[in-house]
Amino acid sequence: MFEYNQSAQEASALLRVVLQELGKHGLSPTPINYVLFYERALSRSPSFDRAFDAALESEDGLNEARARQLVDEFMLQGLMNELATAQDELKRILRGMMLQMLQTGNEFASYASSLGNYIRRLDTTSDSRFIRELTDEVIAETRGMQRSSVDTQQRFTQATQEIEKLRQELEEARREATTDALTGLPNRRAFGEFLTSIMDDSLKNATKMVLIIGDIDHFKQINDTYGHLVGDKVLRFTARTLLSQVKGQDLVCRFGGEEFAVILPQTTYTGGMALAEKLRSRIAASRLKLAESGKDLGELTISLGVACIRHDDTPESLIRRADRALYQAKHEGRNRVVGEDDLS
Ligand code: GH3
Ligand code: MG
Ligand code: MG
Repeated sequence: MFEYNQSAQEASALLRVVLQELGKHGLSPTPINYVLFYERALSRSPSFDRAFDAALESEDGLNEARARQLVDEFMLQGLMNELATAQDELKRILRGMMLQMLQTGNEFASYASSLGNYIRRLDTTSDSRFIRELTDEVIAETRGMQRSSVDTQQRFTQATQEIEKLRQELEEARREATTDALTGLPNRRAFGEFLTSIMDDSLKNATKMVLIIGDIDHFKQINDTYGHLVGDKVLRFTARTLLSQVKGQDLVCRFGGEEFAVILPQTTYTGGMALAEKLRSRIAASRLKLAESGKDLGELTISLGVACIRHDDTPESLIRRADRALYQAKHEGRNRVVGEDDLS
């Protein structure tokens, strides 16, 4: 997250601005909306301000999905900074080890030159007392060398432990930055990265790949009737169900609020359409019950749009076609799959 270190007074002044602005746009002060408007009131990141204003002025306004997307895109930057800090830390440790190596190298070199010196002095004498003194010197120097190499070894062990800990922290931060907390699926940011790399592979190797975008039908009604907590459970259930139907390299991601994206590498349009139909029928066949009352939640359905890669596609153009197909599926009555070839 961005850092918020305003004084209590500044924060309450911002509170008033935020509430006023929320009211002006007819939006409720949900935590997500609040943090976005707060950030906008601070106006310290031009790129955030631009994206935020564009979302507000868009046709749908700042809906929940857009709000979440903005949080993903801009607020998660903090996590990215954490990654960068960890990288700096790793550099610090490595630099320390390098210096230690150089120093140890110097010590070894000077030890070797002392030994050479002793050998030369031995060549010049046969006096037993002198030899005895010389031996004592050699022993003393060798002990010193041994101590310093034990010291070096300890430092290396410590550095190795530090690096290992850092690696775990990095992994955790990376996981957090790319995972949707509610469903455990890769989030929008991760989706973007996967899509780009899978499209690159596909274009390079001239294989096909398919993108499916699914959107739960009348999801708002579920929230409105049963509350957000039940809505959240339905989202988790949907995520699990979609996951259970794909295999191998296929990727299910959370695309937005109640929207999911499925990326199918090395898949043809026909194959993608068949899988989308399987996803649709699987969701439609589910019967959800309220945990407390056992009351039936009614039908849960999903509409899906399918697009297959073309040689001149960008991630945006592929998403646009899948999205258009999804839109048409909604328009034709929901609970159905529309492929780009069916676009009218
Ligand atoms: P349609 O069939 O046209 O898709 O209708 P819909 O009601 O599903 O679509 P709409 O876009 O009107 O509403 C989507 C709703 O999803 C609104 C928003 O409150 C809800 N939503 C988005 N993210 C979450 C979430 O994380 N949890 C919950 N419970 N609801 C969410
Ligand atoms: Mg939607
Ligand atoms: Mg929907």
